[in-house]
Amino acid sequence: MAVQCPTCSKPAEKPHSPFCSRRCAQADLGRWFSGQYGVPSAEDPDSADLEALEEAIAEALENGTVIKGSFGRQ
Ligand SMILES: [Zn+2]
Repeated sequence: MAVQCPTCSKPAEKPHSPFCSRRCAQADLGRWFSGQYGVPSAEDPDSADLEALEEAIAEALENGTVIKGSFGRQ
C-alpha cells in the first residue's frame, strides 16, 4: 500500500516518508508553523513586547523581594 505525500499526493519516497520530497516535508512543516493544522494561531508577540514583559517580571520580582525584605524592618 503506497503512502501518499500529504503535500502533493504523489507516492511517498522512503528517505522523505511520508512525503515525496524534502521540499514537500518542509512545506508541510511550514503549514504546521503557520497554524493551518488546528494549532491556535496566537500571534507572535513583538520582541519589544517580550522585552517589556521581561522587564515587568524582573521589576515585580525585584519589588517583591524589596517589600519582603523591608517588612518589619522599618
Ligand atoms: Zn510531495
